[in-house]
Amino acid sequence: MKTDKKYDFFGDAFAKAAKNKEPMSIDKRKAVHKFVKSYEFVKWKSEEGKNTCAVCRERNGRLYKYGELNGIWPAHKNCHCKLVPAPAVEAGTATINGLSGIENKYIMGSEGYRKYVLKNGEVYHTNGILPEKKGRTYYSININNKKNNFVIVSNDGMCFVTYDGFKNIYPVENKNIVQKEKKEREAIFFDSFKNEMDLFENDKMAPMAYTYIMQNTYNWYLSDNTSDRAMIEAKLSEFKKTGYKKTGIKFYDEGIEFMPKKPSIIFINQEEHYFRNKLNINYEWKDFEKLNDSLPDKYKWQRMMPPLDAMHQNTAKEGKPNRKYVSFDGHFEAVYSYYNVLLNEKNASIDMGTYNYAPSITFKGNPFKTAAAKDMSTYNLYKNTKEDLKKEMKKQENLFNQVIY
Ligand SMILES: [Zn+2]
Ligand SMILES: [Zn+2]
Repeated sequence: MKTDKKYDFFGDAFAKAAKNKEPMSIDKRKAVHKFVKSYEFVKWKSEEGKNTCAVCRERNGRLYKYGELNGIWPAHKNCHCKLVPAPAVEAGTATINGLSGIENKYIMGSEGYRKYVLKNGEVYHTNGILPEKKGRTYYSININNKKNNFVIVSNDGMCFVTYDGFKNIYPVENKNIVQKEKKEREAIFFDSFKNEMDLFENDKMAPMAYTYIMQNTYNWYLSDNTSDRAMIEAKLSEFKKTGYKKTGIKFYDEGIEFMPKKPSIIFINQEEHYFRNKLNINYEWKDFEKLNDSLPDKYKWQRMMPPLDAMHQNTAKEGKPNRKYVSFDGHFEAVYSYYNVLLNEKNASIDMGTYNYAPSITFKGNPFKTAAAKDMSTYNLYKNTKEDLKKEMKKQENLFNQVIY
């Protein structure tokens, strides 16, 4: 085993404290040994039940790189394995017992240290424990003069650390760089579904398939978790492979089968009309706020200001209006009460947000190009739910009776 003599991994504060036998301040102790949620790697977690196959069992606990999971997870049909967040060590705080400053200079912006380990380290065979890829080689070097402490770097820029002789390996991540990469991913993720948006708008995709894609896309933005995001991406790419026909989830698959295309412009029947309630996407206010914050500008939901929200004020009190929001493409709606309660079939079906087959705004940024005549006229005919329709018919009946007698 090679030992890194040239680089001193004892942080200044520790070195000084050790030399002068000074007690270290609490703040400095806190700054040391800091584990964070990884934004670059996820951990495989298999069920380890009696039906867990050898492949899944073997992968348990392994690290995978975000963005390299396509075709790896899930391992096979009906794979019950999950991806869970991996703990990482923040660059510059990769320390225990007073050891400090494993400076991953590569991810900190300089290649100096990485090159040093690549040149002086030993080739490390991960046997699948670390993410493997054609052409990727790992090198490790002993650090801190502790026999179980090693830094591991790859020739393509990754850095790991272990304190127990490779039993537990942690990615080393630089917070600033990781945050920057996260922002960059968020800026372009929605755009990667442009093709799906076109397919749907051109009637080449079932409405429920589009709902599934959008629901997952919104969930991706709502999640602040690399492992959740990786699983969503894998799910969506599996869905694409089925020609947008099969999600493996009964609710969506039945919806795709029920309505393979948008209904005719001329006439929407009653079943098609109520099916809107299944197609809609809604979030509770807290999540909605968070979601809309993280969406790229052109994909944010828009508030429909009065009088455009007039249809949704039946249950609102004087001076306390409901608020209506519409998704960027005009298909999905959410209505919240003055007190931020999401209106739904249970609490205010007459005012709740409804899915639009024919959006009143288009995602080409052309508001109210097409009037929502189609959905409006069927609303007048059927109301939002069968229950509402019954009530309305009763009301009409009463009116009718009053006129007669
Ligand atoms: Zn398996
Ligand atoms: Zn599995």
